Amino acid sequence: MERENVWKSYDEAALKELNGLNEGYKAFITEGKTERKCVKETIRQAKEAGYRDLDEVIKNGETLKAGDCVYAQIMGKAIALFKIGKRPLTEGMNILGAHIDSPRIDIKQNPLYEDTDMALLDTHYYGGIKKYQWVTLPLAIHGVIVKKDGTVVDVEIGEKEEDPVVGITDLLIHLSADQMEKKARTVIEGEDLNVLVGSQPLQGEEKDAVKAQILKFLKETYDVEEEDFLSAELEVVPAGKARDFGFDRSMVIGYGQDDRVCAYTSMKALLEVGELERTGVCLLVDKEEIGSVGATGMDSNFFENVVAEVLDRLGMYSGLNVRRALKNSKMLSSDVSAAFDPNYPSVMEKKNAAYFGKGLTFNKFTGRGGKSGSNDANPEYIAEIRAIMEKHHVAFQTAELGKVDQGGGGTIAYISARYGMQVIDSGVPVLSMHAPWEICSKADIYEAKKGYVAFLLEA
Ligand code: MN
Ligand code: MN
Repeated sequence: MERENVWKSYDEAALKELNGLNEGYKAFITEGKTERKCVKETIRQAKEAGYRDLDEVIKNGETLKAGDCVYAQIMGKAIALFKIGKRPLTEGMNILGAHIDSPRIDIKQNPLYEDTDMALLDTHYYGGIKKYQWVTLPLAIHGVIVKKDGTVVDVEIGEKEEDPVVGITDLLIHLSADQMEKKARTVIEGEDLNVLVGSQPLQGEEKDAVKAQILKFLKETYDVEEEDFLSAELEVVPAGKARDFGFDRSMVIGYGQDDRVCAYTSMKALLEVGELERTGVCLLVDKEEIGSVGATGMDSNFFENVVAEVLDRLGMYSGLNVRRALKNSKMLSSDVSAAFDPNYPSVMEKKNAAYFGKGLTFNKFTGRGGKSGSNDANPEYIAEIRAIMEKHHVAFQTAELGKVDQGGGGTIAYISARYGMQVIDSGVPVLSMHAPWEICSKADIYEAKKGYVAFLLEA
């Protein structure tokens, strides 16, 4: 079953729309280097599209009706947007789910030290990374430092043209005789991912003068003390913008495309869609890369609780109605797929791989080994999705994550499936997944957004 390359089908108007969407997307991932920043930007765009904060609606004692648009967030790291449909919520929602956390390197709670007149920050990596990919790159630091009085200080170093960057060094090839014999897993070890942040001693300081210089900078720039690192959440990520990739500009290279590419296209689909029969939802969660744990991860009760609140505002809350609304829902659990890479064909089974330019990818299952840890979507549901995609001329493909027993991975799909709703994994194929700079096809991004709109309208 060969599927056509969708680029061939585009006329001028489609290409214009495709490029417009991708410009917005590049801006989104350039700005959204952390889950907090993605939530902030999502709220900004949602408000512009007429969405209201659900907390405000509750506080004002207002009710909701068909056509109303609201959002709810938790701890600034996960968010759910609702566009209320004409049919009762108990008949179910059409949910677009994606995650907004990405692999990165986090600063430890007691990070700053000086060694041989150099100041470094100790780190603990987040999510699955090949550690050797993260050295010798210009890196930026994003996040918050929360002071004892509750003040939240936003930190961002390394993104503006005039900003300095930081980074992790690697051993020179001339002295790498021993290192080059090591396995890729241990070439760069987790405890050695130390970020170099300074080398100039502070005048008049005797002991740890380079560290003192860094502390002076932090005091002057952010009005924080060394001890404030204890209550900080600082993420080290690749510095720089998302850019066009390829002579023909057909691709996007950027940090955090897993899974902000699905988050952005899902969000855009909901914000632009017109009146809906069934309530449309865009759910963007945190902590997927470390098992969907915590209050802001998919395994929390965040979404269920928000659904209860929405039902209450619709004047139809009951415990049973919450269960009915969830059970009758349909979901596209959207996360990136591994794109076929001609440099590494051996890990893929060609008939069941995702390809650039062949559109939105559906995975019946993910997991590893004998599908362990997967949500296995029902064929009845897949048939319905196929029909919807065809009706709306959305290019789509189906894939597995590599050859059987080659490896594997999971998503948030199995968690929502618990409620009895129909869920299938879908998303955009990506090259160099989990590397500092990942690559996606602009055509697949465009088809994903089209597919999400179709799903909201028809499922
Ligand atoms: Mn992902
Ligand atoms: Mn991932």
